[in-house]
Amino acid sequence: MTDQFRSPILLALIGHPIGHSLSPLMHSAALKLLRLAGRYEAWDVSDLKQAVEKLRREGYRGASVTIPFKRDVMAFLDDLDDQARRIGAVNTVFLREGRLQGTNTDWEGLLRALRKVTDLFGKRIVVLGAGGTARAALYGLLAEGGVPVVVNRTEKQGRGLAEEFGCPFYPLAEIGDLAGDILINATPVGMVPEIDFSPVPAAALRRFRLVADVIYNPMKTRLLREAEEAGCAVLSGMDMFVEQGAAQFRLWTGLEPPVDRMRQVVKQELERREGKQA
Ligand code: NAP
Repeated sequence: MTDQFRSPILLALIGHPIGHSLSPLMHSAALKLLRLAGRYEAWDVSDLKQAVEKLRREGYRGASVTIPFKRDVMAFLDDLDDQARRIGAVNTVFLREGRLQGTNTDWEGLLRALRKVTDLFGKRIVVLGAGGTARAALYGLLAEGGVPVVVNRTEKQGRGLAEEFGCPFYPLAEIGDLAGDILINATPVGMVPEIDFSPVPAAALRRFRLVADVIYNPMKTRLLREAEEAGCAVLSGMDMFVEQGAAQFRLWTGLEPPVDRMRQVVKQELERREGKQA
């Protein structure tokens, strides 16, 4: 065992509320499978500054950051990398040479999940939404040579984001006139408990080859069900979730995480929850 693993690996989730997060389950399974001493704690945070100070003071190796702190946490960190700056949101904090750094692994999670099912270079990709997840998606898709198009309900936010990333913009009301290789939902529409909603009319879906959702609860959203019925290939947000977590784990430990095992525990837990909801 190398020096860096002589002390237990302390990790935390910073968010509010955090009751439904699958990150503790997923990262604890990874630590256990690799037989690493340490733990991943779930912190339901009311004072963000104090939470970051606790990471620093008590030698935490890193943290996941989730709603509502992905933007606000940036002010309390020592360094931000280019991805975090460009995306404007931090979902991962990690310790490097005694300094707390902020980065974003959502874009990498999405890219790794997409790459398993499609090429992205030169593909026309409609991204629905103009929030933090849409920003992460645009960053990753452009880095991969994709050709993204921003579609959003509110014109001002959508157009502003599209201009910032140099992409075309269309209002959500015009989605029926659009076509492309891939459609990615980066809005929360269709997430539990609002599972009967879809951000896109079913009739618009057959103009896309692949439809991906960033939502993973439920694993198969109404959007994905209707996309399958329209003959599209589909990709659940679960794969993105597992891959963004795997990217975090690499930063915290320097080790290759057991991605298959992480996916298995996440899938089992989502199936258990969906069974309860049914
Ligand atoms: P956000 O910053 O709040 O952005 C929300 C976006 O969705 C906005 O553009 C908003 O449009 C749009 N929207 C919200 N309600 C809508 C509606 N009823 N109809 C049409 N558009 C609507 O959210 P976010 O942080 O980007 O998160 C989005 C989703 O990504 C969440 O469900 C989150 O759980 C998921 N996520 C998944 C992963 C993963 O690993 N799989 C990672 C990160 C996030 P307006 O501008 O018009 O308000």
